[in-house]
Amino acid sequence: MKQQRALIVGGSVGGLFAAHLLRAAGWDVAVFERSRSDLADRGASIGTRTDLFDILKRIGIQPDPSVGVAVSSRLCLGGDGASLCEIPSPSLNSSWDRIYRPLRDTLPAALYQSGRKLEIIEQNDNGVTAIFDDGTRESGDLLIAADGIHSTVRNQLLPAVQPVYAGYVAWRGVIEESALTADEHKLLFGRMAFCLPDRELLLSIGMPGRAADTRPGHRRYYWIWFRPADEHGALADLCTDDTRTRHGSSIPPHLVRRDVVAALHDDAQRVLAPSLAAIVRRTAQPFPHGVYDVETPRMVMGRTVLLGDSAFVARPHVGAGITKAALDAQCLADAVTQESDLATALARYERERHAYGKALIARARYLGSYLEAAAKTNGVMPKRQPETVLAEYGAAGKIG
Ligand SMILES: Cc1cc2nc3c(=O)[nH]c(=O)nc-3n(C[C@H](O)[C@H](O)[C@H](O)COP(=O)(O)OP(=O)(O)OC[C@H]3O[C@@H](n4cnc5c(N)ncnc54)[C@H](O)[C@@H]3O)c2cc1C
Repeated sequence: MKQQRALIVGGSVGGLFAAHLLRAAGWDVAVFERSRSDLADRGASIGTRTDLFDILKRIGIQPDPSVGVAVSSRLCLGGDGASLCEIPSPSLNSSWDRIYRPLRDTLPAALYQSGRKLEIIEQNDNGVTAIFDDGTRESGDLLIAADGIHSTVRNQLLPAVQPVYAGYVAWRGVIEESALTADEHKLLFGRMAFCLPDRELLLSIGMPGRAADTRPGHRRYYWIWFRPADEHGALADLCTDDTRTRHGSSIPPHLVRRDVVAALHDDAQRVLAPSLAAIVRRTAQPFPHGVYDVETPRMVMGRTVLLGDSAFVARPHVGAGITKAALDAQCLADAVTQESDLATALARYERERHAYGKALIARARYLGSYLEAAAKTNGVMPKRQPETVLAEYGAAGKIG
């Protein structure tokens, strides 16, 4: 039987999981990534789940202890610094590059083409063709759109599906472990620390250091602070630089205006626990980005499938984007191996992964609902007792 060929558009974690797993299933795979530079330095902290490690092992990547920083509990601090509650919750917090790097390095270089930007696809009953911005074409039996939240493929096939703004921004920052004071380190490192100012939420956690260094003293500390911001007013202002250029719904860290950072520092001092406020104020380049939902009505269209963030983007509260992309890829590889033909395999993929994506989005929306403006909550206002928030985050991302 002729070997099947998969064209994978997008060479981030979703595309890489698909490439490895389909290759192991006997397919010929080719990954096309528009970026010419290495993607390893783009991500920050990521929560992990056992399914993610199971899939890495299936690929042949054995996670070692340096894959993450161990966390023993979730702790909630009041604005005055008092400990409001703490629940045991052992977990491992990793970093984006710690997952991406081995996936990239273990895929044969010839299968990964950088600087290939997909422009449009053509498909019929017999196959699918990808057409790139330099006019070159590639043909295959299946095209996997792992091209992220602003997916070119989804925009062509389902133009009505667009990211929907959640009503708040996420400020993010990373600071070296060595920059924490001894008191801050004792209180915070090794725990996931929360602070819940009115209609806001800050979460902070240890993560691996540069070059995946997890030696004590060489790790980093990460925080993410969710704050309400209307899309055309506050978000637009946060993402506008000193030259009055607006950078969409996010802005490169080095372009964030000084007055915006100064206001963040003032607010940190006013509403956060003193230890967390001090860390926010000491962080070199915090940056904001809008929080969005993406929800597709379909994941399979002819010989094209959406995978990972091109299909569903759940708010960061569930910390599940990478695991979801890995599970999508695993389901697709299992379906094409176990089902009698491609059409049946794709129908199974649609059925199983669409239900999962919908459920994950709903959970992330629920967790974020108290951060939204009152008009957007549809009457759903979960209690935000610290115990409830800590327990709910503990269950985040566990769908099915
Ligand atoms: C604040 C924040 C916190 C997060 N925290 C977590 C977490 O704790 N845990 C977790 O698991 N996930 C987390 N995520 C999500 C995670 O980063 C993504 O879900 C994950 O990277 C899977 O994405 P993907 O591979 O589907 O798409 P992406 O990573 O977005 O990759 C898409 C790729 O496609 C390429 N591309 C796009 N268009 C084209 C084109 N036309 N032609 C060729 N290539 C193209 C892009 O260059 C990119 O490399 C977080 C995200 C954010 C924003």
